[in-house]
Amino acid sequence: MTNYDQQGQHVEGDQFNADTINVNAGTINIIEPELKRCYICGKLCRPEDTYECKRCRNFACLSHKVDVSSPYSPKCKVLIDVEKSLFSSSDEVRRVAAQHIWSARDQSTMPALMRRIKVETDSITKHWLYSALGRIGGAEARRMLEEAQTQENDSLVLQGIEDGLQSITAETRFDK
Ligand SMILES: [Zn+2]
Ligand SMILES: [Zn+2]
Repeated sequence: MTNYDQQGQHVEGDQFNADTINVNAGTINIIEPELKRCYICGKLCRPEDTYECKRCRNFACLSHKVDVSSPYSPKCKVLIDVEKSLFSSSDEVRRVAAQHIWSARDQSTMPALMRRIKVETDSITKHWLYSALGRIGGAEARRMLEEAQTQENDSLVLQGIEDGLQSITAETRFDK
């Protein structure tokens, strides 16, 4: 007599006893799909009901997808659009984008923020970018702000740098 266990492995008839069945039951539990926690609502979902955001690599429910074809979570989709706007030729568009970066206070925007600061010429945009840099914080941000303080001379830009440095100082104080 020939039997096959749950994984299709050949099992000899005389080994097909209670012990074997218990082992198989254990195997079934292991191949049960690992649930993913949605980073937006916190719900545990089956992998097929979630998607992985291509930008932050977090898992989210399919119901939080911006549209069927978007590989990004809603928040990341917005940040990507804002980062694009930072490189718009319109001062007005860049000012709004810089303020958005400031309020988002998201570490992931740092590379785009630093790239834009180096080439930005509009003082209002620069004001927000420097301030945002400090709000996101970190040693690299502090170094950039301190360096900018010695190079910039527009009062609005200098105010943004000052605000940025104060955010970093406040952060450091709370950490201790
Ligand atoms: Zn969710
Ligand atoms: Zn994301």
